[in-house]
Amino acid sequence: LIQLYLPLNILGFAYREIRQGLTDMEQMFSLLDVPREVEDAPGAPELSVPEGRVVFDDVRFHYRPDREILKGVSFEVPPGRMLAIVGPTGAGKSTISRLLFRFYDATGGRVLVDGQDVRGVTQDSLRHAIGVVPQDTVLFNDTIAYNIGYGRPGASEAEIIEAAKLAQVHDFVMKLPDGYRTRVGERGLKLSGGEKQRVAIARTILKNPRVLILDEATSALDTATEQEIQSALRQVATGRTTLVIAHRLSTVVEADEIIVLQDGRIAERGTHAALIAEGGLYAQMWQRQADAVAAAEAAARAEAEA
Ligand code: ADP
Repeated sequence: LIQLYLPLNILGFAYREIRQGLTDMEQMFSLLDVPREVEDAPGAPELSVPEGRVVFDDVRFHYRPDREILKGVSFEVPPGRMLAIVGPTGAGKSTISRLLFRFYDATGGRVLVDGQDVRGVTQDSLRHAIGVVPQDTVLFNDTIAYNIGYGRPGASEAEIIEAAKLAQVHDFVMKLPDGYRTRVGERGLKLSGGEKQRVAIARTILKNPRVLILDEATSALDTATEQEIQSALRQVATGRTTLVIAHRLSTVVEADEIIVLQDGRIAERGTHAALIAEGGLYAQMWQRQADAVAAAEAAARAEAEA
């Protein structure tokens, strides 16, 4: 199911890659001449981001008039803090990130970055200020160095390697046949989901945006991969205002605030500890997740003993 409203013929090769979750929107805009849903206002100024405060003020949104997806969503992410968005599939989590990136315009309310309505500034300046680490990154058919360096045109090899180290992908690259010159992508070496995500994180570290959108992978990862990704995510989120579409307990535990989205509304909000104590929807969700993890571990132990 393609979740972005874009003509398939224009997306061509890319559509398979983006069918789920949050797309690699930045890349798509630059790679393909995708017609934008929204236009810059005449004479719009550039966004200025001295702090990186993100505010959703009673935001409403529908893709089609007969079905409202966001029904008045309000939150504020102070500079450098992390907001985790959780909730069932289809609740509107990705839609929130698309509105922040101004892939679409809110149909009611306002989306503000440092007090500026995203509709009033140039899209280029908005997208320059926001980094996106998608669930599934589309790699260029080029070298690993190119794929990381894309985050900041003109970056030196030393800067690329430094970003790769922070993103916990350097050691992996050093084991490849041609190191940073190894060709990857559809026609080169295929990377695993976790490896691709760390390449995307390295790219975003180079881009150095004030505001970050993370779309965590829903798929289960082995413990080592999980730890590497967590550590890379922590690196890239440090000092940046971060909105994360969260699927992992380890992420939400660290978030400054969690909002539980259900049916287009914020059903619960608070820290992990507060929401667990509340014993509501969130507490139930994590109990289910904990049970699933425990069951998987028990199964793995049984297999090891057999
Ligand atoms: P989540 O990220 O929480 O799974 P989304 O924000 O992707 O949810 O989607 C919210 C709802 O909006 C879903 O019911 C989805 O089917 C619908 N939706 C998403 N994208 C589009 C689109 N381009 N056109 C119409 N409906 C859409």
